[in-house]
Amino acid sequence: MTDETATKPEVTMEEIVALCKRRGFVFQSSEIYGGLGSTYDYGHYGVLLKQNVKNEWWRAMLQDRDDIVAIDSAILQHPRVWEASGHLEGFTDPLVQCLGKCKKRWREDHVREEQLGAADAEGEITCPECGGELTEPRQFNLMFKTHMGPVEDAGSVVYLRPETAQGIFINFKNFLQFSRRKPPFGIAQVGKSFRNEITPGNFIFRTREFEQMEMEFFVPPAEAEKWHQHWMAERMRWYTELGIRPSHLRLRAHGPDELSHYSSATSDIEYLFPIGWSELEGIANRGDFDLTQHAKHSGEKLEYFDQATGERYVPYVIEPAAGADRAALAFLVDAYDVEEVEGRKRTVLRLHPRLAPVKVAVLPLVSKEGMPERAREIFDQLRPLMQAEYDEGGSIGKRYRRQDEIGTPWGVTVDGQTLEDGTVTLRDRDTLTQERVPADELPALLLKKLSEPWKSPKLG
Ligand code: ATP
Repeated sequence: MTDETATKPEVTMEEIVALCKRRGFVFQSSEIYGGLGSTYDYGHYGVLLKQNVKNEWWRAMLQDRDDIVAIDSAILQHPRVWEASGHLEGFTDPLVQCLGKCKKRWREDHVREEQLGAADAEGEITCPECGGELTEPRQFNLMFKTHMGPVEDAGSVVYLRPETAQGIFINFKNFLQFSRRKPPFGIAQVGKSFRNEITPGNFIFRTREFEQMEMEFFVPPAEAEKWHQHWMAERMRWYTELGIRPSHLRLRAHGPDELSHYSSATSDIEYLFPIGWSELEGIANRGDFDLTQHAKHSGEKLEYFDQATGERYVPYVIEPAAGADRAALAFLVDAYDVEEVEGRKRTVLRLHPRLAPVKVAVLPLVSKEGMPERAREIFDQLRPLMQAEYDEGGSIGKRYRRQDEIGTPWGVTVDGQTLEDGTVTLRDRDTLTQERVPADELPALLLKKLSEPWKSPKLG
């Protein structure tokens, strides 16, 4: 930790939830029926933001390097996958229930951490809600179970995947054969995962249905440590290049008691969420655990044979595993800002332009003859290039406030002068500067701005 490391969050979760609802980013799911525990629906701007997060992840994995390929595997997999992976036996959390008034269920390790300072601390814990006595812990499996086909018997049980990673391991052989790759190389996947979390909460931080962005990087065993270091640095870089302030981001190595059943070393990238420092992404050295297990359970050989050297080995795996929803939340929190401009409060999302749901808003100043038409022309020029929005409703101040709250980096106003000399006003979300530029130059200018490195104005 450096001196500059932040110690307390600057925005509350309530403020983020309120903005997300007000501006149509995220809603409680099934709201008209009273809501369904910890499930959320993404609205228009939420979809665009999360899509941008996923696109940036794909860009970093596929486009910016040439040693990773993509996969999209099925959510439902053979039940033996989960036997081999250890999830049937080991993907559990310790569940305790209140014997007092409220009867609520809790994760024992979380309560211990909260009340005794560490997840494995010895000592008495009580119900965080009503102070009641708690039951002895029992191991609760987090996988959602369902049945495949019309008969609901033991033979038809399948699980909704609790992580995307296994879909990659079970395809390892296909990729060796068909994409002609040799270690070190990676397979990347983005998709939904499901966990029957005991205590979901904190908005989209912990839900029972969420999206993961996972990449399994297969390496010669002797190079595993080197690649683990590489991926920790790369993933930290990804977040900071997309605008997360370094003071709000840290790497924390797991202690021996914290390691998952498959991992020989894991470090978490943590962000200073409104709930305190919490995991954003895990970067694990999974060793040869998964390929060895699947080879044992399936009878298939899952190893690499190097024809040049005659060497045969089971690759080790380095896995950066991130959550798309959790990352979107971190970007929202980091971007949230309130300032006073000319005596009025302005709420603004200072998102990296590439993450911003809308890049540019085209706003005719008044509906004077010819102005909306000219503004629409400009809008039509920009929209094939980037997500643009046209808005002619309400006062210009109100329209800007709306765009600020959804994080639109540039506003183009079309006014009387536009009709005379073809120039428009280009407003910058962060500096609030307004410059006059020829409308015809906008497409090239904005594309250039979008491709430039960006740093959060909150850094000063
Ligand atoms: P946690 O300790 O928060 O439960 P984990 O260590 O179990 O997370 P991993 O299995 O490493 O999480 O999953 C990788 C990433 O997937 C996490 O860093 C997080 O971003 C995301 N993720 C995991 N569980 C959830 C969830 N219930 N809701 C939203 N995102 C999640």
